[in-house]
Amino acid sequence: MELDEIIQKDKKYYMNTFGNRIPVCFTHGKGIYLYDNDGNEYRDFFAGIAVCALGHSHPALVNAICDQAKKLIHCSNLYYIEQQARLAELIVENSCADRVFFANSGAEANEGAIKLARLYFRKKGMPDKYEIVTLYNSFHGRTLATLAATGQEKYQKPFAPLTPKFSHVPINDVQALEKAINENTCAVMLEPVQGEGGVHPATAEYMNAVRKICDEKGILLIFDEVQCGLGRTGKLFAYQHYGVEPDIFTLAKALAGGFPIGALCAKEHVASAFEPGEHGSTFGGNPLACSAGLAVLSTIINEKLSDNAAEVGNYFFEKMDSLKNKFPIISEVRGKGLMIGIEFAKPVAKQVNMKLFERRYLLGTSGENVLRILPPLIVTKEDMDGLINVLAEVLQDIN
Ligand code: PMP
Repeated sequence: MELDEIIQKDKKYYMNTFGNRIPVCFTHGKGIYLYDNDGNEYRDFFAGIAVCALGHSHPALVNAICDQAKKLIHCSNLYYIEQQARLAELIVENSCADRVFFANSGAEANEGAIKLARLYFRKKGMPDKYEIVTLYNSFHGRTLATLAATGQEKYQKPFAPLTPKFSHVPINDVQALEKAINENTCAVMLEPVQGEGGVHPATAEYMNAVRKICDEKGILLIFDEVQCGLGRTGKLFAYQHYGVEPDIFTLAKALAGGFPIGALCAKEHVASAFEPGEHGSTFGGNPLACSAGLAVLSTIINEKLSDNAAEVGNYFFEKMDSLKNKFPIISEVRGKGLMIGIEFAKPVAKQVNMKLFERRYLLGTSGENVLRILPPLIVTKEDMDGLINVLAEVLQDIN
Protein backbone atom coordinates (compact mmCIF):
# COMPACT_ATOMS: atom_id res chain seq x y z
CA MET A 1 0.00 0.00 0.00
CA GLU A 2 1.23 3.52 -0.79
CA LEU A 3 2.07 5.80 2.15
CA ASP A 4 -0.70 8.31 1.21
CA GLU A 5 -3.33 5.59 1.30
CA ILE A 6 -2.09 4.33 4.68
CA ILE A 7 -2.21 7.87 6.07
CA GLN A 8 -5.76 8.36 4.72
CA LYS A 9 -6.96 5.11 6.29
CA ASP A 10 -5.28 5.97 9.59
CA LYS A 11 -6.86 9.42 9.65
CA LYS A 12 -10.29 7.96 8.91
CA TYR A 13 -10.34 4.86 11.11
CA TYR A 14 -7.71 5.07 13.82
CA MET A 15 -8.34 6.94 17.05
CA ASN A 16 -6.39 10.16 16.89
CA THR A 17 -4.34 9.73 20.06
CA PHE A 18 -1.02 10.59 18.38
CA GLY A 19 -1.89 13.78 16.47
CA ASN A 20 0.07 14.12 13.28
CA ARG A 21 2.47 11.24 13.09
CA ILE A 22 5.79 11.54 11.30
CA PRO A 23 4.89 10.70 7.67
CA VAL A 24 6.64 7.39 7.21
CA CYS A 25 5.67 3.73 7.43
CA PHE A 26 8.34 1.13 8.04
CA THR A 27 8.11 -2.31 6.53
CA HIS A 28 11.20 -3.99 7.91
CA GLY A 29 14.37 -3.46 9.85
CA LYS A 30 17.81 -4.92 10.48
CA GLY A 31 20.19 -3.92 13.25
CA ILE A 32 20.05 -0.16 13.68
CA TYR A 33 18.37 0.27 10.26
CA LEU A 34 14.70 0.63 9.37
CA TYR A 35 13.31 0.61 5.82
CA ASP A 36 10.18 2.41 4.64
CA ASN A 37 7.78 1.20 1.97
CA ASP A 38 9.72 3.07 -0.71
CA GLY A 39 12.87 1.20 0.29
CA ASN A 40 14.56 4.19 1.96
CA GLU A 41 17.00 3.38 4.76
CA TYR A 42 16.83 5.12 8.14
CA ARG A 43 19.10 4.88 11.18
CA ASP A 44 17.06 4.18 14.26
CA PHE A 45 18.48 6.08 17.23
CA PHE A 46 15.21 5.83 19.11
CA ALA A 47 14.84 2.04 18.87
CA GLY A 48 11.09 2.07 19.33
CA ILE A 49 11.59 4.16 22.49
CA ALA A 50 14.11 1.83 24.05
CA VAL A 51 12.32 -1.35 22.99
CA CYS A 52 14.68 -2.84 20.39
CA ALA A 53 17.75 -3.41 22.54
CA LEU A 54 19.21 -6.00 20.15
CA GLY A 55 18.43 -3.98 17.06
CA HIS A 56 15.73 -4.91 14.57
CA SER A 57 15.19 -8.50 13.44
CA HIS A 58 17.92 -9.97 15.65
CA PRO A 59 18.09 -13.67 14.70
CA ALA A 60 17.99 -14.85 18.34
CA LEU A 61 14.67 -13.06 18.86
CA VAL A 62 13.17 -13.88 15.45
CA ASN A 63 14.02 -17.57 15.77
CA ALA A 64 12.72 -17.76 19.34
CA ILE A 65 9.39 -16.21 18.31
CA CYS A 66 9.02 -18.34 15.15
CA ASP A 67 9.99 -21.59 16.88
CA GLN A 68 7.65 -20.96 19.81
CA ALA A 69 4.77 -19.78 17.58
CA LYS A 70 4.88 -23.10 15.76
CA LYS A 71 4.52 -24.98 19.06
CA LEU A 72 2.29 -23.04 21.45
CA ILE A 73 1.32 -19.37 21.54
CA HIS A 74 -0.89 -19.24 24.57
CA CYS A 75 -2.53 -21.63 26.98
CA SER A 76 -3.58 -20.37 30.40
CA ASN A 77 -2.02 -19.43 33.67
CA LEU A 78 -4.06 -22.29 35.14
CA TYR A 79 -1.19 -24.49 33.99
CA TYR A 80 2.57 -24.41 34.47
CA ILE A 81 4.47 -22.65 31.67
CA GLU A 82 8.10 -23.64 31.14
CA GLN A 83 9.19 -20.42 29.40
CA GLN A 84 7.57 -18.30 32.14
CA ALA A 85 9.40 -20.17 34.89
CA ARG A 86 12.70 -19.94 32.99
CA LEU A 87 12.41 -16.22 32.28
CA ALA A 88 11.51 -15.54 35.91
CA GLU A 89 14.59 -17.56 36.93
CA LEU A 90 16.84 -15.62 34.53
CA ILE A 91 15.64 -12.27 35.91
CA VAL A 92 16.03 -13.43 39.52
CA GLU A 93 19.51 -14.87 38.90
CA ASN A 94 20.68 -11.53 37.47
CA SER A 95 18.91 -9.04 39.75
CA CYS A 96 18.06 -8.31 43.37
CA ALA A 97 14.55 -9.75 42.95
CA ASP A 98 13.45 -13.10 44.38
CA ARG A 99 10.18 -13.42 42.46
CA VAL A 100 8.67 -12.17 39.22
CA PHE A 101 5.15 -11.74 37.82
CA PHE A 102 4.61 -11.13 34.11
CA ALA A 103 2.19 -8.55 32.75
CA ASN A 104 1.76 -7.19 29.21
CA SER A 105 3.11 -3.64 29.42
CA GLY A 106 5.01 -1.19 31.57
CA ALA A 107 1.82 0.37 32.88
CA GLU A 108 0.43 -3.02 33.87
CA ALA A 109 3.66 -3.97 35.62
CA ASN A 110 3.53 -0.66 37.53
CA GLU A 111 -0.13 -1.22 38.43
CA GLY A 112 1.01 -4.51 39.91
CA ALA A 113 3.76 -2.75 41.85
CA ILE A 114 1.30 -0.22 43.29
CA LYS A 115 -1.16 -2.98 44.23
CA LEU A 116 1.60 -5.08 45.82
CA ALA A 117 2.92 -2.15 47.91
CA ARG A 118 -0.57 -1.49 49.29
CA LEU A 119 -1.28 -5.18 49.86
CA TYR A 120 2.03 -5.66 51.68
CA PHE A 121 0.97 -3.29 54.45
CA ARG A 122 -2.63 -4.49 54.48
CA LYS A 123 -1.35 -8.01 55.16
CA LYS A 124 0.72 -6.59 58.00
CA GLY A 125 -2.44 -5.16 59.55
CA MET A 126 -1.74 -1.58 58.39
CA PRO A 127 -4.60 -0.97 55.92
CA ASP A 128 -4.22 2.83 56.08
CA LYS A 129 -0.72 2.73 54.64
CA TYR A 130 -1.51 3.18 50.95
CA GLU A 131 -0.11 6.56 49.94
CA ILE A 132 2.70 6.65 47.39
CA VAL A 133 5.23 9.40 46.80
CA THR A 134 6.59 9.71 43.26
CA LEU A 135 8.57 12.39 41.42
CA TYR A 136 7.62 15.36 39.28
CA ASN A 137 8.49 14.76 35.65
CA SER A 138 8.11 11.01 36.08
CA PHE A 139 6.23 8.76 33.69
CA HIS A 140 4.75 5.50 34.95
CA GLY A 141 2.01 4.72 32.41
CA ARG A 142 -1.43 5.69 31.17
CA THR A 143 -3.78 3.54 33.23
CA LEU A 144 -5.61 5.47 35.94
CA ALA A 145 -3.34 4.51 38.85
CA THR A 146 -0.12 4.85 36.87
CA LEU A 147 -1.34 8.22 35.53
CA ALA A 148 -1.83 9.27 39.13
CA ALA A 149 1.73 8.15 39.83
CA THR A 150 3.03 10.01 36.76
CA GLY A 151 4.34 13.44 37.69
CA GLN A 152 3.29 15.33 34.56
CA GLU A 153 0.03 17.23 34.59
CA LYS A 154 -0.38 17.24 30.83
CA TYR A 155 -1.04 13.48 30.86
CA GLN A 156 -3.26 13.59 33.94
CA LYS A 157 -5.51 16.60 33.51
CA PRO A 158 -8.03 15.25 30.97
CA PHE A 159 -8.74 12.15 33.07
CA ALA A 160 -9.42 13.45 36.56
CA PRO A 161 -10.39 12.19 39.03
CA LEU A 162 -7.41 9.87 39.14
CA THR A 163 -6.61 7.19 41.68
CA PRO A 164 -6.14 9.17 44.91
CA LYS A 165 -3.25 9.27 47.37
CA PHE A 166 -0.27 9.91 45.13
CA SER A 167 1.94 12.91 45.81
CA HIS A 168 4.92 14.26 43.91
CA VAL A 169 8.26 15.80 44.82
CA PRO A 170 11.18 17.07 42.71
CA ILE A 171 13.94 14.62 41.77
CA ASN A 172 17.18 14.79 43.80
CA ASP A 173 15.56 16.76 46.64
CA VAL A 174 15.94 14.77 49.85
CA GLN A 175 14.22 17.30 52.10
CA ALA A 176 11.13 17.48 49.89
CA LEU A 177 10.88 13.70 49.96
CA GLU A 178 11.19 13.53 53.75
CA LYS A 179 8.47 16.16 54.05
CA ALA A 180 6.11 14.33 51.69
CA ILE A 181 6.26 11.04 53.58
CA ASN A 182 3.63 10.65 56.33
CA GLU A 183 2.37 7.81 58.50
CA ASN A 184 0.11 6.59 55.67
CA THR A 185 2.86 6.39 53.06
CA CYS A 186 3.51 2.84 51.88
CA ALA A 187 6.12 3.46 49.17
CA VAL A 188 8.36 5.78 47.23
CA MET A 189 8.31 5.08 43.50
CA LEU A 190 10.80 6.51 41.01
CA GLU A 191 12.66 6.03 37.75
CA PRO A 192 16.43 5.93 38.47
CA VAL A 193 16.79 7.78 35.18
CA GLN A 194 13.64 9.63 34.17
CA GLY A 195 12.91 8.98 30.51
CA GLU A 196 9.78 10.67 29.17
CA GLY A 197 10.40 13.64 31.47
CA GLY A 198 13.55 14.56 29.53
CA VAL A 199 16.31 12.14 30.63
CA HIS A 200 17.05 13.19 34.20
CA PRO A 201 19.25 10.79 36.19
CA ALA A 202 18.91 10.59 39.97
CA THR A 203 22.18 11.34 41.76
CA ALA A 204 24.00 8.69 43.80
CA GLU A 205 23.61 10.76 46.99
CA TYR A 206 19.88 11.02 46.39
CA MET A 207 19.38 7.32 45.70
CA ASN A 208 21.32 6.36 48.82
CA ALA A 209 19.37 8.88 50.89
CA VAL A 210 16.05 7.58 49.49
CA ARG A 211 16.94 4.01 50.45
CA LYS A 212 17.93 5.14 53.93
CA ILE A 213 14.73 7.14 54.41
CA CYS A 214 12.58 4.20 53.24
CA ASP A 215 14.40 1.87 55.67
CA GLU A 216 14.06 4.29 58.57
CA LYS A 217 10.36 4.86 57.90
CA GLY A 218 9.70 1.19 57.17
CA ILE A 219 8.27 1.84 53.70
CA LEU A 220 8.91 0.22 50.34
CA LEU A 221 11.10 1.51 47.54
CA ILE A 222 9.88 0.86 43.99
CA PHE A 223 12.04 1.50 40.93
CA ASP A 224 10.39 1.84 37.54
CA GLU A 225 13.05 0.45 35.20
CA VAL A 226 10.63 0.12 32.28
CA GLN A 227 12.75 2.46 30.18
CA CYS A 228 16.12 2.62 31.95
CA GLY A 229 16.46 -1.11 32.70
CA LEU A 230 17.96 -4.02 30.77
CA GLY A 231 21.37 -2.65 29.82
CA ARG A 232 20.22 0.74 28.54
CA THR A 233 22.22 2.82 31.05
CA GLY A 234 25.41 0.76 30.89
CA LYS A 235 24.48 -1.73 33.60
CA LEU A 236 21.88 -4.50 33.37
CA PHE A 237 19.68 -2.58 35.82
CA ALA A 238 20.00 1.17 36.40
CA TYR A 239 19.85 0.71 40.19
CA GLN A 240 23.21 -1.09 39.98
CA HIS A 241 24.90 2.28 39.30
CA TYR A 242 23.94 3.42 42.77
CA GLY A 243 24.67 0.43 45.00
CA VAL A 244 21.05 0.66 46.12
CA GLU A 245 18.49 -2.13 45.84
CA PRO A 246 14.74 -1.57 45.57
CA ASP A 247 12.09 -3.78 47.22
CA ILE A 248 10.14 -3.85 43.97
CA PHE A 249 11.15 -2.98 40.41
CA THR A 250 9.39 -3.14 37.09
CA LEU A 251 10.55 -3.91 33.55
CA ALA A 252 8.89 -3.86 30.12
CA LYS A 253 9.91 -2.21 26.81
CA ALA A 254 13.19 -3.97 25.92
CA LEU A 255 12.43 -7.21 27.76
CA ALA A 256 10.93 -9.04 24.78
CA GLY A 257 12.37 -6.77 22.09
CA GLY A 258 9.02 -5.50 20.82
CA PHE A 259 6.79 -8.36 21.87
CA PRO A 260 4.46 -7.05 24.61
CA ILE A 261 5.56 -8.02 28.12
CA GLY A 262 5.99 -6.37 31.49
CA ALA A 263 7.61 -7.72 34.63
CA LEU A 264 6.86 -6.99 38.26
CA CYS A 265 9.93 -8.06 40.25
CA ALA A 266 10.14 -8.11 44.06
CA LYS A 267 12.04 -9.32 47.07
CA GLU A 268 10.58 -12.41 48.74
CA HIS A 269 9.16 -10.70 51.83
CA VAL A 270 7.19 -8.30 49.61
CA ALA A 271 6.24 -10.74 46.85
CA SER A 272 4.80 -13.15 49.38
CA ALA A 273 2.03 -10.64 50.18
CA PHE A 274 0.24 -11.88 47.05
CA GLU A 275 -1.96 -14.87 47.75
CA PRO A 276 -3.49 -17.02 45.00
CA GLY A 277 -6.32 -15.20 43.24
CA GLU A 278 -5.29 -11.70 44.31
CA HIS A 279 -3.62 -10.70 41.04
CA GLY A 280 -3.57 -12.06 37.51
CA SER A 281 -3.56 -11.56 33.75
CA THR A 282 -4.93 -13.61 30.85
CA PHE A 283 -1.99 -12.98 28.55
CA GLY A 284 0.72 -12.10 31.06
CA GLY A 285 3.62 -14.53 30.91
CA ASN A 286 2.37 -16.43 27.87
CA PRO A 287 4.83 -18.86 26.23
CA LEU A 288 5.43 -16.66 23.17
CA ALA A 289 6.20 -13.46 25.10
CA CYS A 290 8.41 -15.35 27.55
CA SER A 291 10.32 -17.12 24.74
CA ALA A 292 10.97 -13.69 23.24
CA GLY A 293 12.03 -12.42 26.68
CA LEU A 294 14.40 -15.36 27.19
CA ALA A 295 16.04 -14.72 23.81
CA VAL A 296 16.46 -10.99 24.44
CA LEU A 297 17.60 -11.10 28.05
CA SER A 298 20.05 -13.95 27.51
CA THR A 299 21.51 -12.12 24.48
CA ILE A 300 21.87 -8.86 26.46
CA ILE A 301 23.66 -10.79 29.21
CA ASN A 302 25.78 -13.14 27.07
CA GLU A 303 26.87 -10.49 24.59
CA LYS A 304 27.51 -8.00 27.40
CA LEU A 305 25.42 -5.36 25.65
CA SER A 306 25.28 -3.25 28.80
CA ASP A 307 29.08 -2.91 28.56
CA ASN A 308 28.69 -1.76 24.97
CA ALA A 309 26.05 0.74 26.11
CA ALA A 310 28.49 2.10 28.72
CA GLU A 311 31.43 2.30 26.31
CA VAL A 312 29.60 3.78 23.33
CA GLY A 313 27.63 6.09 25.63
CA ASN A 314 30.83 7.44 27.24
CA TYR A 315 32.35 7.93 23.82
CA PHE A 316 29.29 9.91 22.73
CA PHE A 317 29.28 12.10 25.86
CA GLU A 318 32.99 12.91 25.34
CA LYS A 319 32.48 13.76 21.68
CA MET A 320 29.45 15.88 22.48
CA ASP A 321 31.60 18.08 24.71
CA SER A 322 33.26 19.62 21.66
CA LEU A 323 29.95 19.92 19.80
CA LYS A 324 28.50 21.69 22.83
CA ASN A 325 31.36 24.19 22.74
CA LYS A 326 30.75 24.81 19.05
CA PHE A 327 26.98 25.23 19.38
CA PRO A 328 25.96 27.33 22.39
CA ILE A 329 22.33 26.45 21.68
CA ILE A 330 23.14 23.08 23.33
CA SER A 331 22.73 23.80 27.02
CA GLU A 332 23.26 20.30 28.41
CA VAL A 333 24.00 16.75 27.33
CA ARG A 334 22.98 14.31 30.05
CA GLY A 335 22.04 10.73 30.75
CA LYS A 336 23.70 7.39 31.37
CA GLY A 337 24.99 4.89 28.82
CA LEU A 338 22.70 4.92 25.80
CA MET A 339 19.89 6.85 27.50
CA ILE A 340 20.77 10.35 26.38
CA GLY A 341 19.10 13.76 26.42
CA ILE A 342 20.37 16.85 24.64
CA GLU A 343 18.80 19.99 26.08
CA PHE A 344 18.64 23.14 23.99
CA ALA A 345 18.57 26.68 25.31
CA LYS A 346 15.56 27.35 23.04
CA PRO A 347 12.45 25.32 22.15
CA VAL A 348 13.96 23.84 18.98
CA ALA A 349 13.94 20.13 19.80
CA LYS A 350 11.08 19.26 17.42
CA GLN A 351 12.63 21.30 14.62
CA VAL A 352 16.00 19.59 15.11
CA ASN A 353 14.27 16.22 15.24
CA MET A 354 12.44 16.82 11.94
CA LYS A 355 15.66 17.97 10.25
CA LEU A 356 17.35 14.79 11.44
CA PHE A 357 14.39 12.82 10.13
CA GLU A 358 14.81 14.46 6.71
CA ARG A 359 18.37 13.08 6.78
CA ARG A 360 16.87 9.70 7.76
CA TYR A 361 18.01 9.71 11.36
CA LEU A 362 15.27 8.72 13.82
CA LEU A 363 15.40 10.35 17.26
CA GLY A 364 12.80 11.52 19.77
CA THR A 365 11.95 14.58 21.83
CA SER A 366 10.74 15.42 25.30
CA GLY A 367 8.80 18.65 25.50
CA GLU A 368 10.07 21.52 23.36
CA ASN A 369 13.70 21.61 24.49
CA VAL A 370 15.03 18.07 24.79
CA LEU A 371 16.19 15.74 22.03
CA ARG A 372 16.27 12.11 23.13
CA ILE A 373 18.62 9.41 21.91
CA LEU A 374 17.87 5.75 22.70
CA PRO A 375 19.67 3.64 20.09
CA PRO A 376 19.73 -0.15 20.08
CA LEU A 377 22.38 -1.42 22.51
CA ILE A 378 24.35 -2.90 19.58
CA VAL A 379 25.13 0.56 18.21
CA THR A 380 28.82 1.27 17.47
CA LYS A 381 31.08 4.28 17.97
CA GLU A 382 31.08 4.75 14.18
CA ASP A 383 27.28 4.89 14.21
CA MET A 384 27.46 7.58 16.89
CA ASP A 385 30.06 9.50 14.86
CA GLY A 386 27.59 9.51 11.99
CA LEU A 387 24.87 10.92 14.24
CA ILE A 388 27.17 13.61 15.64
CA ASN A 389 28.19 14.70 12.11
CA VAL A 390 24.58 14.96 10.98
CA LEU A 391 23.60 16.73 14.19
CA ALA A 392 26.36 19.30 13.61
CA GLU A 393 25.09 19.80 10.06
CA VAL A 394 21.54 20.33 11.28
CA LEU A 395 22.54 22.70 14.09
CA GLN A 396 24.29 25.00 11.56
CA ASP A 397 20.81 25.99 10.36
CA ILE A 398 19.21 26.39 13.79
CA ASN A 399 19.30 29.77 15.51
N1 PMP B 1 7.29 3.58 32.86
C1 PMP B 1 8.21 4.23 32.15
C2 PMP B 1 9.46 4.72 32.82
C3 PMP B 1 8.03 4.43 30.77
O1 PMP B 1 8.95 5.09 30.05
C4 PMP B 1 6.85 3.94 30.16
C5 PMP B 1 6.59 4.11 28.68
N2 PMP B 1 7.10 5.22 28.09
C6 PMP B 1 5.91 3.27 30.97
C7 PMP B 1 6.17 3.11 32.31
C8 PMP B 1 4.65 2.72 30.37
O2 PMP B 1 4.92 1.59 29.63
P1 PMP B 1 3.83 1.02 28.60
O3 PMP B 1 3.68 2.02 27.51
O4 PMP B 1 4.41 -0.29 28.15
O5 PMP B 1 2.57 0.85 29.38
